[in-house]
This record gives sequence, structure tokens and C-alpha cells, in this order.
Amino acid sequence: MNGKLLMTPGPTNVPERVLKAMASPMIHHRTSDYVKLFAELNERLKFVFQTKNPVLMFPAAGTGGLEASIVNSFSPGDKVLGVSIGEFGDRFIKIAKIYGLQVDEIHVPWGEAVTLDEIKNNLKDEHKGVFITHGETSTGGVNPVKDIGAYLKDKDKLFIVDAVSSLGAIDIKMDEWNIDVLITASQKALMCPPGLFFVGLSDKAMEAARTSTMPRFYFDFLSARKFYDKGQNPYTPAVSLVAAQNEALKIIEEEGLSNVFKRHDTLAKRLRDNLKNTPLKLFTKEYAIGNNLTVFSCDIEGSASIIKSTLESDYDILIAGGQSHTAGKVIRIGHMGYVNEEMIDRTSSSIIKILSEINK
Ligand code: PMP
Repeated sequence: MNGKLLMTPGPTNVPERVLKAMASPMIHHRTSDYVKLFAELNERLKFVFQTKNPVLMFPAAGTGGLEASIVNSFSPGDKVLGVSIGEFGDRFIKIAKIYGLQVDEIHVPWGEAVTLDEIKNNLKDEHKGVFITHGETSTGGVNPVKDIGAYLKDKDKLFIVDAVSSLGAIDIKMDEWNIDVLITASQKALMCPPGLFFVGLSDKAMEAARTSTMPRFYFDFLSARKFYDKGQNPYTPAVSLVAAQNEALKIIEEEGLSNVFKRHDTLAKRLRDNLKNTPLKLFTKEYAIGNNLTVFSCDIEGSASIIKSTLESDYDILIAGGQSHTAGKVIRIGHMGYVNEEMIDRTSSSIIKILSEINK
């Protein structure tokens, strides 16, 4: 692979085949060529979302997907329950409040996950929906979305899940788990450059979009859905990214979804095992930890930033540092998407060398 190795929790490494697809000759978005590409990608999106329903796409970052899910699901003043286990849960709550929702908030300490009992104890009849992060990229924690979905099944609430950094790395079954709005983005486990978000919508979510009075124009699910039936997007799509994402999902299809999840599991364990006998300690509680990234606490003063900067300067490997109050205290190593054993071993052996220098 050319360039630096991205062991960051997004953007991630992009396979050569995907880069080539992105460089294919431009096609016009109001032609049968585009309709064919759009249809192929849509079928593949249903496959990775594990849904029979349409998955809409918009040219924007994952945050656009969070915003779109709020403005299409609710009306100003609606009461909702927001769950945060880290930075991205906080962001979701912030967006909901900006749009005038009355948010009851559950905040769980970083490194942990919410429990079903906490949801049960906080959910009120008046709540129109629950929104939550699946894989929390700031902490490495994963929320029990399956159990929450089962609990919400016969309740008149929308269940909205941010799977921006987990979909394609950790199993998430949209239909079976009763998720109404499922959001992800192109640049993480889906092995594509940044620039697209995808949102799966249940019938209940589409119905909510019809009754929602929140002002919106570009991020309107109803117009995107109308054009979806014609095999198109309402506005000029990011055609090259659509081609790239289609190729990336073809690779996932070839490997097989369950093999993809198994690979993430094996690689997560391998990295943690490789670094077991070092001063780095897992930041995330064992019951909550996911397979898409690993967050390590670095107790030796200054070591987090030395590890991160030396990996880049001396080894051409990029990882991420901590966010918010964990800045300078943790390192975050992404292992989602296009990752293999060699990349894991290269990263861990480089970290071990850096740590031995720090300890001299
Ligand atoms: N949610 C989660 C869980 C994320 O990891 C991220 C990106 N790190 C986002 C939302 C926001 O995505 P973007 O940076 O593409 O706006």
C-alpha cells in the first residue's frame, strides 16, 4: 500500500480496487448508466444493513446523517430519550437540542455501555423516540442495541442508531433488531473515502418523516425516497464515491459478511494480545468493548502523544489520540475495514519499540 498506514478509527485504508473504481470515467447522474450503478449499490447496502428496506444515501459526512435523522424523524418540541457513552453520543444530543427537541439524557461514564435497565428506568410514555450510538468511537464501547431494540419492539417509539464506525465491522441487524433509523458513513468499516452517509429507514421511520414538521430541504428523506424509486438522487450525487462504495461493498460481499465480522474479532484480539505485556491498559470495560477499535490508557505522563507522533514520523503509521477529557491520556487504534494481520502486527511491534524507548 502506498502512503501512510491508517490505523485510525476513520478515515480508514482504501483498497486499490476501490481507488480504481473511484477513478473511472465520469458518468452523468441522469442516465441509465447511473441508474444501474445506483441499483447495484442499493442492493449491496441492503445486504450490509441487513434490511429489506431502502437505504438512502446523501453526499455528506456522518454528522450530516445524525442531523438528517433528527430533522426527518421529529417535530420541534418533541420529547425524546438520548443516550451518550462518549463524544459522539454527546454530539447526537447536541444536534437534537439545536433543533428544539426536549431531550432527556442518559450519560454513562466513558469506557462503559448503557444497560437495558437504564433505558427501562428512563423511558417515558411521552418519548417519541430513543437515539443512541452503537460503537462509540471516542471510547471503544458498544451499546446493547439488540436488547434495546427487542425491548422497544411493541412500543410506539422510533429507535435511531448511529453506527457510523461500527456498521461493517460489528454485526448489526437492522430489521431483526427492530432499528428504525440506522446511520453509517463511507469512510470507516465500509472501506471507502469520506463523503457519503447512508441511512436505512423502516416503514415506521418513513411514516415519521411524512408527519415530521421540522424544516428541512437538502436532507429530506421524502424527496430522496421519491427519487430512489426512479434509481436516482434528488440532487447531483457524488458519482465517483458512489462507484467507489459499490466496489467496496462488492469486496465485502465476496468475503462474506460473517467472515468480515470474524476477521474484525480475530484482529481486535490479536492487537490486544500483542500489547498485553506493555504499560498500555484497555480503557474500555471488557463487557462493553467492540471489535472496530481499541482504546488504550497511557498512564506514563506524555506517552500517548509520543506514541502517536513517533508512529507517524518514524513508522508511517497513523493512529488517533483521545477526545475531550481523554486528550493526551489515551490512544485510539482503529482496526475496521481494510485491515489484516500484517497491519496489526506492524502497528503493535512499532508501539512496543516506542514504549521501550520511553522506558529507557
Ligand atoms: N458517530 C460516530 C460513532 C463516529 O465515529 C463519527 C466519526 N468519527 C461520527 C458520528 C461523525 O462522522 P463524521 O466525522 O463523518 O461526521
